[in-house]
Amino acid sequence: MQKVIVVGGGAAGMMAAVSAAKAGACVLLLERNNRLGWKLSITGKGRCNVTNDSTMQEIIKNIPGNGSFLYSSLAAFDSASLQDFFRAQGVELKTERGKRVFPVSDNAKDIVAALKRAMEKLGVKVLYGKYVDKLLIEDGAIQGVQAGEEVFEAERVIITCGGKSYSTTGSDGSGYMLAEQAGHSIITPKPALVPLYSEDKYIPGLAGLSLKNVEVSLYHRNKLLAAEFGEMLFTHKGVSGPVILSLSFDVCTLSAIDQRQCILKINLKPALDMDKLQARLQRDLDKFSRRHLANSLNELLPQSIIPVVIQLSGVFPHKECNQITKEERKALCEIISAFPVHISSVGTIEEAIVTAGGVCVKEINPKTMESRKVSGLYFCGEVLDVQGYTGGFNLQAAFSMGNAAGKYAAEEF
Ligand SMILES: Cc1cc2nc3c(=O)[nH]c(=O)nc-3n(C[C@H](O)[C@H](O)[C@H](O)COP(=O)(O)OP(=O)(O)OC[C@H]3O[C@@H](n4cnc5c(N)ncnc54)[C@H](O)[C@@H]3O)c2cc1C
Repeated sequence: MQKVIVVGGGAAGMMAAVSAAKAGACVLLLERNNRLGWKLSITGKGRCNVTNDSTMQEIIKNIPGNGSFLYSSLAAFDSASLQDFFRAQGVELKTERGKRVFPVSDNAKDIVAALKRAMEKLGVKVLYGKYVDKLLIEDGAIQGVQAGEEVFEAERVIITCGGKSYSTTGSDGSGYMLAEQAGHSIITPKPALVPLYSEDKYIPGLAGLSLKNVEVSLYHRNKLLAAEFGEMLFTHKGVSGPVILSLSFDVCTLSAIDQRQCILKINLKPALDMDKLQARLQRDLDKFSRRHLANSLNELLPQSIIPVVIQLSGVFPHKECNQITKEERKALCEIISAFPVHISSVGTIEEAIVTAGGVCVKEINPKTMESRKVSGLYFCGEVLDVQGYTGGFNLQAAFSMGNAAGKYAAEEF
């Protein structure tokens, strides 16, 4: 029986353990925490967006950070296979807007429990409180790992220590240190999928405002970098929510100086083109012709954003609606269709949903997840330089890579 050690009991680690045990290996999982799947249990705001019900091509398209590295592992274990896996473990799933898949219970802990159950059924042994800090390597082959003074021997070791974000959940970047011991290059870890900060004076006054069905365009020095449709929210320090997290991907690739040159333009009424928007505004102005402008936009816009829209358009808020000129109406519509938020910085790696960077994928076999530097050593999950957009793509990537690593680590040489 092949002995396999899995380091880290997150999404990738638990799936790797299941897959190795299924393939007949004797599996020992070492987790530094006293529980499994801590980060997994807080994913999707505690609901766990476990995958995206999409084809392999669509999934790869949504993983801009080295998505093509996943062709082989996704072909072997795609979204449908992952959903079948959880259903077989008794977890009912549902698909929401944007093909996002969640457990019907809306409880991420059910996903963690299902993985734990699968491991138990297959006889995976789990040891808690084991912080692996050393790889034992001899003549280019793995021999085991060390956690403090304790030595654990095995001819196969799978590293699934995660990235560097939300480090209280256990992923503190120690996987990179282990990879370096094996001679791997680390692409500098950076935050990805983070809130964006803004020093625009009106931001604190908008905190808590959540917008649905808006189109947000990201510009860098007047050049359109990306645009996203969906939900976002204002925070005390800037903006967040699904659309913003996705757009942050592009902002994070820029230097701190260039990040400050970025501006978001929020189209608050994307279903209306400029002519239709002007006509719609005129209707409201006609309807409330004797009111002040500031009291006439409630049917068009959320209350808290109205004073800011009026201020940015330069129109006097206490002007009566029947006095608003064509130019003023146009100025209001320009702000409504391109509400500006100037970016000052991005969230820290600690706040990031995923870490960009990590173990260089060129040094890993994409089919087996085995290191090209040390035989018998495997890497999978966020510890690798692979990162996708929100929507279930990151967990799908972790599960597919985990499935591949476990399967091949269990094989005889
Ligand atoms: C708030 C939040 C919400 C998210 N929501 C979603 C979502 O809804 N959908 C989605 O697709 N993605 C989501 N993600 C991203 C997703 O959680 C990660 O991509 C995924 O958890 C990565 O899995 P992993 O197994 O590689 O790493 P992790 O889940 O981070 O697991 C790593 C494990 O290794 C252990 N470990 C680390 N170092 C050592 C060591 N030296 N020795 C022993 N054990 C060690 C850690 O304690 C941890 O248990 C979210 C992330 C966050 C932070």
